[in-house]
Amino acid sequence: MIQPNSTIGVFGSGQLGRMFAIEARKMGYRVHTFSPASDTPTGQVADVETSANYDDLAEVEKFARSVDVVTFEFENVPSKTVEKAAEFVAVHPKGEILHIAQNRLREKTFLNENGFPVVPFRHIKTLEDLYHAVNEIGVPSVLKTAGFGYDGKGQEKINAVGDVEPAFSRIDGRESVLEGFIDFEKEVSVVCARDAAGNFVHYGVIENDHANHILDVSFAPAMVSRKVFDEAVEITRDLAEKLGFVGTLCVEFFLTKDEKLIINEIAPRPHNSGHLTFGGCMTSQFEQQLRAVCGISLGSTEFFRPAAMANLLGDLWENSEPNWQNALAFPNVKLHLYGKTESRLGRKMGHITALGETAQQARELAVNARASLI
Ligand code: AMP
Repeated sequence: MIQPNSTIGVFGSGQLGRMFAIEARKMGYRVHTFSPASDTPTGQVADVETSANYDDLAEVEKFARSVDVVTFEFENVPSKTVEKAAEFVAVHPKGEILHIAQNRLREKTFLNENGFPVVPFRHIKTLEDLYHAVNEIGVPSVLKTAGFGYDGKGQEKINAVGDVEPAFSRIDGRESVLEGFIDFEKEVSVVCARDAAGNFVHYGVIENDHANHILDVSFAPAMVSRKVFDEAVEITRDLAEKLGFVGTLCVEFFLTKDEKLIINEIAPRPHNSGHLTFGGCMTSQFEQQLRAVCGISLGSTEFFRPAAMANLLGDLWENSEPNWQNALAFPNVKLHLYGKTESRLGRKMGHITALGETAQQARELAVNARASLI
């Protein structure tokens, strides 16, 4: 076990690392974050912030030598960086998992080959590949860049054959994947944690609403049947096992109208949909990550009450500073801000969590509190 007062190294420096660092420091750990930026959401609450490029392997070595274990809050860390760190210190989750999760093509291929339900997909390198794939998969479909895509970035919807050439040119030669468009009933996720001994805990099924491809609101428990609940948890458990995962993992699903679960994406780290566990549960998704990577028993995932989370995007700052007083006047509402110094449209700046008698009530409360900000 890695004892309190040891130092946890975190690659990445955004809000996920910030909430991880808050939990870690609460338990007496030190936190050292590594990313190219400075005065970051994680750096502001960490003990040490290294600002260096991921390919600066001398800095990576220095970082790895100064910490007792390394984890991530951001999966797009280059493989060479992770390999370098792993020469000096344990890294969880392991680099191979990051390598799979940072590329849609590798991720979908891994899932498909291991019998997990995924959307129909094809690898696209040329315009000819795309015509062929659209022919096979049909329309509507979505062309997505294989790497560095999130929150709808690098995605082009194809509604008719006439969209093929413009979509291909917007992808601008990057390796990509064509996916069938799923006419889903809802989107749900399962956040879990697994330790090196194979112990597994989960937060049940969380329901997610998106706006403009970005997560807008999450609430738990999701309104799904027992069958869907059990199946989603079982898929997640099986996947964590097959990956040999150590840390916090999120599996995002599409749920179809005939109750089929299809994996959209996996996140090998705490996830936006699990933010409602921070304050809503006995042990947050961030504390579970800490426990898993330190080899401490995983904590209870019990919810205090049904919970919800509403994201605060930079759009809220467009005209003036949001009216915090209004939102904070709501009982059972908590405000989380990430310390980002610059607000931009679509940028995740913070979130609101709420507890209620039911998930719907918690959801309404979070949404109303957010609406009161402007
Ligand atoms: P992603 O970045 O791939 O998670 O996509 C962001 C959001 O876009 C998803 O959460 C969905 O709301 C929507 N989306 C992405 N891919 C598909 C798809 N194949 N079918 C339907 N909706 C999709």
